[in-house]
Amino acid sequence: MDEQVDPSSLGIDTSKPSVARMYDYYLDGKDNYQVDREAVDRVAQAMPEIRRLAWENRAFLRRAVRYMARQGIRQFIDIGSGLPTVGNTHEVAQEITPDARVVYVDNDPVVLVHGRALLARDDNTAVATADMRDPASVLEHPNTTKLIDFSEPVGVLLIAMVHFLTEEERPYVMGSLRDALPSGSHITFTHATRDGHPISTVEQIESVYAMTPTPIYIRERAEIARFFDGYDLVEPGLVTVDAWRPDPADPAPEATYWIYGGVGRKP
Ligand code: SAH
Repeated sequence: MDEQVDPSSLGIDTSKPSVARMYDYYLDGKDNYQVDREAVDRVAQAMPEIRRLAWENRAFLRRAVRYMARQGIRQFIDIGSGLPTVGNTHEVAQEITPDARVVYVDNDPVVLVHGRALLARDDNTAVATADMRDPASVLEHPNTTKLIDFSEPVGVLLIAMVHFLTEEERPYVMGSLRDALPSGSHITFTHATRDGHPISTVEQIESVYAMTPTPIYIRERAEIARFFDGYDLVEPGLVTVDAWRPDPADPAPEATYWIYGGVGRKP
């Protein structure tokens, strides 16, 4: 990020690492600060494959969006969208459905600043600053209601997001989103897992994120599956992302087995 501009004038807090800016650094982006890069270095000490994981996660996002677009989904809410990168949701969806509409939602002000610049010329996309933990702030945001017609199926993305919800927050947040969606809507998420990994590594990663405004909860599969309550999982179900409909035309990096993903359909 241009360090000449005073970040605080944009509402950006550089006293603590931000998850959006750390993730940007995983993906070789430029919108991050020293405090973010130091946090990433600590994550990378525990988990050297962190960058591969971020790219693997993005590859899952592309496959899930294509899947939903091919099911006829024409409008998407990408919650916790992060900073613009290569292959953003609207670009992937619009390859299949040229007039697909996408609302990008994030609670980090840095996303709004950069998202606006990227999307300024596309009437079918918008950026909303809102908090997933307050689903009404997402669903009732003027940019959401402008683009999303809740009488038609919606595709909701919570990619690398739901591991930021506590057990107490999960039923209300997921239930409110589900209740707002018409039948035939789809939801997709990815969630970091502790399955198959040393507990010391898991704890080290959780301790880095505990310094951000966004602590992470790295869970086991059975706990993660509950986020799909009320949906029918499409094949192959909830799996590590490498195993979810791999696409030889859009190859992913070698699997890290650190993250589960799936797509559910609201009956
Ligand atoms: N979905 C993208 C980015 C994941 S990084 C991808 O998978 O590639 C996680 C993003 O979630 C960050 O941009 C962070 O700012 C955002 N985020 C974290 N907690 C949030 C909350 N409570 N509400 C909205 N966005 C949140």
